[in-house]
Amino acid sequence: MTTTRIAHIEAIPLRVPRPLAPHMGHAVQPNERGYLIDPDNGTIYPADDRALLIRIDCEDGTVGWGETYGIVAAGAVRELVDDVIAPWLRGRDPLDVQRIWESLYNMMRVRGYTTGFWLDALAGVDIALWDLCGKRLGQPVHKLLGGAARTTIPAYITNIQGADENARLDFIAAQHAAGYRAFKVHASTAFDAVALIHRMRERHADIEIMLDLHWCHTAAEAIAIAKRIEPCGIAFLEAPVRVEDVDGLARVAAGTSIPIAVGEEWRTVFDAHLRLKTGAVAVVQPEMGRTGITQFMRICQLAELHHARIAPHATIGFGVFMAASLQASAAVESLTRHEVQNHMFPRYLPLFDTTMSCAAGAYSLTTEPGLGITPKPALFEHRLP
Ligand code: MG
Repeated sequence: MTTTRIAHIEAIPLRVPRPLAPHMGHAVQPNERGYLIDPDNGTIYPADDRALLIRIDCEDGTVGWGETYGIVAAGAVRELVDDVIAPWLRGRDPLDVQRIWESLYNMMRVRGYTTGFWLDALAGVDIALWDLCGKRLGQPVHKLLGGAARTTIPAYITNIQGADENARLDFIAAQHAAGYRAFKVHASTAFDAVALIHRMRERHADIEIMLDLHWCHTAAEAIAIAKRIEPCGIAFLEAPVRVEDVDGLARVAAGTSIPIAVGEEWRTVFDAHLRLKTGAVAVVQPEMGRTGITQFMRICQLAELHHARIAPHATIGFGVFMAASLQASAAVESLTRHEVQNHMFPRYLPLFDTTMSCAAGAYSLTTEPGLGITPKPALFEHRLP
């Protein structure tokens, strides 16, 4: 095989309007830039669907696709790609993907490199480079990562829809009938998550139930909530304390029998190391849109060293980083379930050429070279200037 060189790198912001739906049970109006603040966790979100794709072209015509979770201030990520990454990356061999990650990470060492927009950009570029590696070698990415431990990946539902508790229970019953056996409740001030969980357990003895606390609590508060749902048999309690409260994680873990899950906000294995070494983390939730494949795999490897389970997070994406997450997840030995953004995942699949799917409670794994996903021209009708 001859070597090919990277010729062109492009960051492509996409935006698709959607009807304004109640956000986590609240009626929230977006500001003039189209953002709203989630009343439950204080985080900014776009009110429409946004994505930032990364396209990398090689001299031989091979195209790699990536996507980053740069849905707020996407222009910042695009500027980093155009101004910093593209001039450095041109002329390099995509098969040097992990060397490239190390160099780019080190390049911004004194410029705020450990999180945020820079690592959003790196994640998208890294995914596109792995896609190129697979296409160049004629293999699906999971083969490059050592092979698939499974050909289907169990999924859990994260977006329990319904205007009230009974409607949410009806939604769960419908998904249960469709083959799903795991559901995550998002704590909200708009409804009683504890009451919902108790009724879920009354109705379904055979489901896994998780609760996401969105980093909102002190350790003592989180333990008090955990105690109220322990009798329901909870698969994991997610993000119980603030991201910065590493010691609090350990206190929560010591104060409840429910396994503690964290990791969706991590960008690198260094973030993982700080938490895993406390012994508090039972379930690790890497988010491909923030880590890229290189760091996703390193986080999973460190988690396995600490005998933690892995349940990848699936944030709001159009599909490329989901395809990357499934390729990587297939290669992870200690994986339990992968989240599915059930309200969004099916919406954008028709805009890609892919056999990726999620049905009857599980994702199917693609076997085409690379990530197994290519945007259709119709996707770019949503491109921002
Ligand atoms: Mg979460």
